[in-house]
Amino acid sequence: MKIVLLPGDGIGPDITVQAKKILDIVGDKYDRKFQYEYGLLGGVAIDKTGHPLPDETVEMCKDSKAIFLGAVGGDKWDTLPGHLRPEAGLLGIRKALGVYANLRPAILFPQLKSASTLKEEVLGDGLNIMILRELTGGIYFGDKGREGQGMEESAWDVEIYTRAEIERIAHMGFKIARSRGRKLTSIDKANVLESSRLWRTVVKEVAKEYKDVELNHMYVDNAAMQLLRNPQQFDVIVTNNIFGDILSDEAGMLTGSLGMLPSASLGDDNIGLYEPIHGSAPDIAGKDMANPLASIMSVAMMLEYSLDMQKAAEDVYTAVGNVLDEGYRTVDIMEEGKTQVGTNQMGDLVAKAIVQ
Ligand code: NAD
Repeated sequence: MKIVLLPGDGIGPDITVQAKKILDIVGDKYDRKFQYEYGLLGGVAIDKTGHPLPDETVEMCKDSKAIFLGAVGGDKWDTLPGHLRPEAGLLGIRKALGVYANLRPAILFPQLKSASTLKEEVLGDGLNIMILRELTGGIYFGDKGREGQGMEESAWDVEIYTRAEIERIAHMGFKIARSRGRKLTSIDKANVLESSRLWRTVVKEVAKEYKDVELNHMYVDNAAMQLLRNPQQFDVIVTNNIFGDILSDEAGMLTGSLGMLPSASLGDDNIGLYEPIHGSAPDIAGKDMANPLASIMSVAMMLEYSLDMQKAAEDVYTAVGNVLDEGYRTVDIMEEGKTQVGTNQMGDLVAKAIVQ
């Protein structure tokens, strides 16, 4: 099984080493052979080829089973024109792979409750919410423009969804809910927006094929509130591009640390792109300070969604929980009375816990 590694910039290479370490251990444990190929993306690609997403990287990724991406970006490339900046490589690879669904779990391990901004009683035994965001449609891709002068000057961005786009993301939402707590919350603004009314109609139609999954609908303003008031009520959330963008950041912050949040981007042909949600953190790059757990849990998602290794994915999550139970913390989640470790040692500890 070919896996492409795109380390990128800043702490990207530091955490990619740990992601590969986990894949190696899982491969050994389950007797599966992974074949790795390294590709250039972001600032490092600009330095070496003049472009943030070389054609060679795209070809390599299309010919693989899954891709792990570290992070891209840094001051050095901030003055380049938009289409030549590292972030253009990120958008470009998502587009080239046709990934239309972004999965962002907000997992709060009970051991890290004090890192959350919410009160302990609201968090119960920790959190595990999966947010599924539509990634290639809606207002970010609809018609946009600007015209007129003075007080008549106006600008617009059109929120547009086709039935086909809603159907495919709804199917994915129901399937994911089926593999978890069998509860799907579809979030829209159907009291005001026509596009949301179509969204709700289509989701209800698709629901007929998934009678074993409990479906409810919620307006986005209420959802933003409910995430803070009673996050325990959510299992899987499916929503459009812009609402998902905002709500997944909100939910992520319930877990307290940027270093703990993995993500997956999926399309129809199962090639998945897996990456931590944090950036390249140039301030701590190469200092053995980055928390590798977001990357390690992105590997768990890869095992689950692209490599059909559900049991191995569970092993990874359990290993992360065990290492936290033993009191090991990277600097970003460090608390009094715990043992501080660096990026590499945290990777080693999780790897060791997987084989135990
Ligand atoms: P950032 O996520 O890189 O860092 C924000 C803060 O969180 C920093 O203090 C950093 O040290 C800390 N941090 C981030 N990840 C951490 C980890 N794993 N362990 C411990 N601490 C961690 O965001 P930023 O500073 O706004 O952006 C830096 C660069 O990253 C910019 O060039 C930005 O464009 C880019 N960026 C890339 C991605 C991506 O590749 N997906 C996402 C966001 C930002």
